[in-house]
Amino acid sequence: MNTAANPWLSHTAVIEEIRPEIESVATLILRLEDSNLAGSYRFSPGQFNMLYVPGCGEVAISMSGPATDNGHRITHTIRTVGRVTQAIEQLGVGEMIGVRGPMGTPWPIESLHDRDVVLVSGGLGMAPLRPVIYALMEEPKRFGRRTLLYGARSPDLILYADEIDSWRESGIDVHITVDRATDDWHGHVGTVHLLIDRLASIDPSRTAMFACGPEIMMHFSAKSGLARGLARESIWLSMERNMQCAFGMCGHCQWGSHFVCRTGPVLRYDTAEPFLTVRDL
Ligand SMILES: Cc1cc2nc3c(=O)[nH]c(=O)nc-3n(C[C@H](O)[C@H](O)[C@H](O)COP(=O)(O)OP(=O)(O)OC[C@H]3O[C@@H](n4cnc5c(N)ncnc54)[C@H](O)[C@@H]3O)c2cc1C
Repeated sequence: MNTAANPWLSHTAVIEEIRPEIESVATLILRLEDSNLAGSYRFSPGQFNMLYVPGCGEVAISMSGPATDNGHRITHTIRTVGRVTQAIEQLGVGEMIGVRGPMGTPWPIESLHDRDVVLVSGGLGMAPLRPVIYALMEEPKRFGRRTLLYGARSPDLILYADEIDSWRESGIDVHITVDRATDDWHGHVGTVHLLIDRLASIDPSRTAMFACGPEIMMHFSAKSGLARGLARESIWLSMERNMQCAFGMCGHCQWGSHFVCRTGPVLRYDTAEPFLTVRDL
């Protein structure tokens, strides 16, 4: 799909499958109705689509499936929070939704070549990082040590729980922590950035970190990364700011000097840092 031709144009997609995930979160598999568009649709991990419900509005939602899929299979994991996501939740298999994208900057996976990679995810921040996990699984020899640190509020809110064994089997070192443990939870308890502090060994000269989740979580994760010796240039964050046009025209997502839809959502930490600490920005 060529958004450069007309970035305003939304294309019709059919909802092929709906998978309930955790409370208020479901994964939708979409197929673009126009098979030529579907065949040419490509995205990179970290990018997002604007999903449109006619008569209701549009929301930015990251791709959460493998980047090797084309427009016959576009995967989005969506939390119901407000007007548009409630309208999406009401849609069933076989119904239509508008898709405008792919938009935004991707995770710089090519910069991970031969490097160790630490993915740090909080809550639904797992969704935009899952395409990276698939890329790490697909070509393990391209990367050094691969680590996923994942924080959820409680054990029942661990997203993609049924896939985590396969991630571990592929050699990814997965550590999970929860804010609130239940009686049957025997893993880590505490916020996810503490897992960075506890990583047994880390070679900062060859490690890159991708973090996605609430801003405060990314702020502390970046600080922990720096404390472990990582350079600012080796840390990337995904900033989810309120977006409307998604291609740098309307200014809704302005964050300091950035229109996050255009220079982000994936930003290198040295770019994001001056704004992360400004209150109410
Ligand atoms: C680049 C990008 C990627 C995103 N990827 C995803 C994704 O993969 N999956 C996903 O579910 N969401 C994602 N989001 C967030 C999603 O766009 C918003 O949740 C959505 O716009 C809310 O629209 P709404 O009309 O349903 O709610 P609104 O009516 O706009 O908001 C309702 C209430 O929910 C609050 N709210 C809005 N967004 C969030 C949020 N993210 N979390 C908690 N509360 C919120 C608002 O402050 C408000 O109080 C992404 C956002 C961006 C910018």
